[in-house]
Amino acid sequence: MESKSWHAITSGEVMAALGSSRTMGLSDEEARSRLSRYGRNALAEVKRRGLLQELAAQFKEFLVILLLISAGISAAVGEGEDALIIAGIVILNAVLGVIQERRAENALDALKKMASPKARVIRSGQPRVVDASQLAPGDIILIEVGDSIPADARLIESGMLRVDASALTGESVPAEQSASAILPSDASLGDRVNMVYAGCSVVYGRGMGIVTETGMSTEMGKIASLLQEADEELTPLQRRLEALGRKLGVGAVALCAGVFVVGVLRHERPFDMFLTAVSLAVAAIPEGLPAIVTIVLALGVQRMASRNAIIRRLPAVETLGSASVICSDKTGTLTTNQMTVRRLYVPGRLLEVTGEGYSSEGRLTEAGRDVDCPSDPAISRLLSCAALCNDARLRNGDGGRIEMLGDPTEGSIIVAAMKAGIDKARLVEWAPRIEELPFESDRKRMTTVHRLPEAYLCCTKGAPDELIRVCAKWFDGTETRPLDDQLRGEIRAANVEMAEGALRVLGVAQREVSDLPPEISVESVESDMVFLGLVGMQDPARPEAAIAVKECLSAGITPVMITGDHKATAVAIARDLGIMTPGSVAITGAELGAMSDAELDEAVEHVSVYARVAPEHKVRIVDAWRRRGQVVAMTGDGVNDAPALKRADIGAAMGITGTDVAKGAADMILTDDNFATIVAAVREGRVVFENIKKSVQYLVSCNIGEILVVFAAIILGLPRPLLPIHILWLNLITDGLPALALGVDPPEAGIMSRRPRARQDDVLSGGAAVRLLVYGLSIAALGLLSFAVGLGWPGELDLSAERLLEAQTMCLLTMSFSQLFHAFNFRSETGSLFRVGPFANSKLVGAFLGSGLLQLVVTFVPPARRFLDLGDVHGAKLFDALTLAVIMIAVGELTKLFARTQEFRDRNGTTN
Ligand code: ATP
Repeated sequence: MESKSWHAITSGEVMAALGSSRTMGLSDEEARSRLSRYGRNALAEVKRRGLLQELAAQFKEFLVILLLISAGISAAVGEGEDALIIAGIVILNAVLGVIQERRAENALDALKKMASPKARVIRSGQPRVVDASQLAPGDIILIEVGDSIPADARLIESGMLRVDASALTGESVPAEQSASAILPSDASLGDRVNMVYAGCSVVYGRGMGIVTETGMSTEMGKIASLLQEADEELTPLQRRLEALGRKLGVGAVALCAGVFVVGVLRHERPFDMFLTAVSLAVAAIPEGLPAIVTIVLALGVQRMASRNAIIRRLPAVETLGSASVICSDKTGTLTTNQMTVRRLYVPGRLLEVTGEGYSSEGRLTEAGRDVDCPSDPAISRLLSCAALCNDARLRNGDGGRIEMLGDPTEGSIIVAAMKAGIDKARLVEWAPRIEELPFESDRKRMTTVHRLPEAYLCCTKGAPDELIRVCAKWFDGTETRPLDDQLRGEIRAANVEMAEGALRVLGVAQREVSDLPPEISVESVESDMVFLGLVGMQDPARPEAAIAVKECLSAGITPVMITGDHKATAVAIARDLGIMTPGSVAITGAELGAMSDAELDEAVEHVSVYARVAPEHKVRIVDAWRRRGQVVAMTGDGVNDAPALKRADIGAAMGITGTDVAKGAADMILTDDNFATIVAAVREGRVVFENIKKSVQYLVSCNIGEILVVFAAIILGLPRPLLPIHILWLNLITDGLPALALGVDPPEAGIMSRRPRARQDDVLSGGAAVRLLVYGLSIAALGLLSFAVGLGWPGELDLSAERLLEAQTMCLLTMSFSQLFHAFNFRSETGSLFRVGPFANSKLVGAFLGSGLLQLVVTFVPPARRFLDLGDVHGAKLFDALTLAVIMIAVGELTKLFARTQEFRDRNGTTN
């Protein structure tokens, strides 16, 4: 479609030019055809590297190049077979590297797709929700507060629409938009108030627009090349591991240089020693580590997604594992958000409402007797007003079920009105809505303005304590009367009584005026109102939330409820769920507002419930907890929650009720809006961290063993216990599969009964370095022992070529199997393998069998044996080599026993 000055013509002209209509939108067929013509509505992505490029990148490593050169030299000096095998192993390693990296990248791509934005459109006359990427020019889109604008569009309708276009124009004050404006064609982007642009967000009101440009043709697309996504963000753990890898690399290279020098001094052939040193360096540097970490993180993310938590930023996975405070909204997160009106109050009277769900079956009773609503003006006016000031709709869904569209709080009111014989559709015909002041969580009220035959009716509903402030009168069923302090007190008491019964209470008021104020605003409309009554609705606690709260408490995580609702309602539900523990208190937003930061810091650890809070309070709560050194997860859904979501260590946005703005600011999206999902994600976060730790510790301890065995032999004046190809082979079979299998190890039973990991805790903290050294030394000692036994120890050492070959084979067998057995030691850091179960990780068992089988094949199948320069080892020697390898399990058990004893002593030491 030719790009035009869409802002300089009327919306009708735009629709005609783009062949669309306000009521029908595009037909599905037309949308499909335009989509194939104009392409997906998405910014072009950075192209991925091709397979060959990726493979080539694997060979760019300095040491690998050195190894290949060495192989070339070997070939030149007549050791062609060796050279071939080295090259073969190096290539195999590179291919495995590419496979791992590809898996990691694919998993990351899948993540990006999961969080894809949605758009509301009219297609073939029906409202639909589609992936924003499926929009085409001519589509009619609906936008409302909190939405991120999916494509450039000319407005057709705008209701107090304000858009934050700072992403595009840099202007941070949201501008009021107007569909009816027609602007000069040279108006600047920031002045085009009848247009909305992709990537900007709606901060107030709602609107309808026709898509004019999509994808790279949007204004955002035009500057997208400037914004081309930065490199994938590394998680803090990945960064620390990179640093660790570098340190280990430097250490390994230094040791290998030592091996070379000592070997040469010991009269080994310099070229042989050079090849040994380089192979050793290649084997010792944990080059597969970054890919393994990414895979483990990404797999964790996939598991979280299958449990309804979508991770938007990878670092959140590990932060989740150390979360120590979870601040959660109440409505819909801790409760089911399936509202049912249970009580009505009009001054002096209290009514019960029966019935369940959205069915209109149910009655209104007063003191046990049915109430005839049509002849009860006080009740019918209360419910009519609440139904008018209402955006929810009921419709017949599949199988005769009634479906509710909109906010459950409002839906429940429509149902209660139906029970009283009031039909919203008929009401709206009688009093069509002409203006509205939408609900805001700061103001906690909303108002609609309706045209009556000879006057205007303003209907307001909202939090009773706020609403009562704007009321000056009340309706007694016949006439309006002034609202005095005594009645105000009675209304407040009725509100508290209902709230204490865990009901969510809304107040309802109205005002009839003969003329509308010149400007419709909160101040001009919401004043001097007539109080009609209160509506109390039940929102049961989610049963799974109570279980999740228990899990939090046993995991040393503090659950905190933050809600816009009344304190008494919040406390009643928090008690039900176990969030209010003995000694904890509830405070309101107003009380919080009166506290200084220092006072809040003092109090924060005792407050379990914050009620009637405004979104900005959430930022203060997060900050206070963080100043206490805690790692805070915070939920949010509205536009105003974005700062708190950003500030928290883990911002969790609601998937169902959340706005695009909240989702954009969050690290994680809860697709089911459920508190239990956060706790499940924390658990997964802990598992991921543990598993990365297991893989890394395994790799590091094995590498220490490999270097030390060669180093020690040379220091002791023995011949080389492993040839370069042996070292490379060892690296190939022990590093890849077992380390990856440890990365998906099933969690230990008590993972949610430990305290959260401290923020600064690392994969090598908590005495791990010492333990790994013990493990590395043990592997080396066992390998060396096997080598010595092969040479005839404890008797006279026989250094003949044949014996040497045998001894090297034994050493390789012991080294490879001890590392394969050793992988099982990491199934638990301090728990015995026999308690956590040696076979519980089938992948690890598979890796053991696969790698073990490969090792046996190259040892016993003669052509393979010849390839790897191995001798014939069988009978007692094979038995010795394998027995020595199994000792690694005993080493693991003893080390853990020691650690457990130490832990026990420390604990008793601190409690005494
Ligand atoms: P949470 O933050 O736990 O989700 P909440 O949903 O109760 O809490 P808000 O949606 O900010 O918080 O609501 C705050 C108060 O505003 C409610 O207690 C209620 O009195 C009032 N309120 C909520 N929804 C509406 C609505 N649709 N119309 C008018 N008033 C409302």
